[in-house]
Amino acid sequence: MSECIFCKIITGDIPSTTVFRDEQVTAFRDINPAAPTHILLVPNRHIDSVNALTGEDEQLVGHLVKVAGQLAAQEGIAEGGYRLIINTNADAGQTVFHIHLHLLGGSPMKHPMG
Ligand code: AMP
Repeated sequence: MSECIFCKIITGDIPSTTVFRDEQVTAFRDINPAAPTHILLVPNRHIDSVNALTGEDEQLVGHLVKVAGQLAAQEGIAEGGYRLIINTNADAGQTVFHIHLHLLGGSPMKHPMG
């Protein structure tokens, strides 16, 4: 069985606050939120990071972003604004090696990033 914590969330072996699920994507609330709305969107199929994406994943990545926009609207943050982030490897601070899109919003954020 996979040791990946996000795979375990997708299968229900680790509890989460799931806000969306379809055949390709699961979205759940971050356990340590960095903003009033902080949702993680993950493909149901394990992919380590952006570095592991192939041409076959283009539709999936587009779908992840599309669902993020729908969830932003559902959370009431679409008009105010939100940020989508995918951290990749050490310099970006990736800690869970199952690709995930952070949806952050609900209060003004500082700019620039980093
Ligand atoms: P990253 O640093 O981009 O790899 O982001 C990993 C995110 O996963 C962090 O924001 C964590 O707070 C979050 N996280 C880790 N474990 C869980 C969990 N069991 N349920 C929800 N979010 C989690």
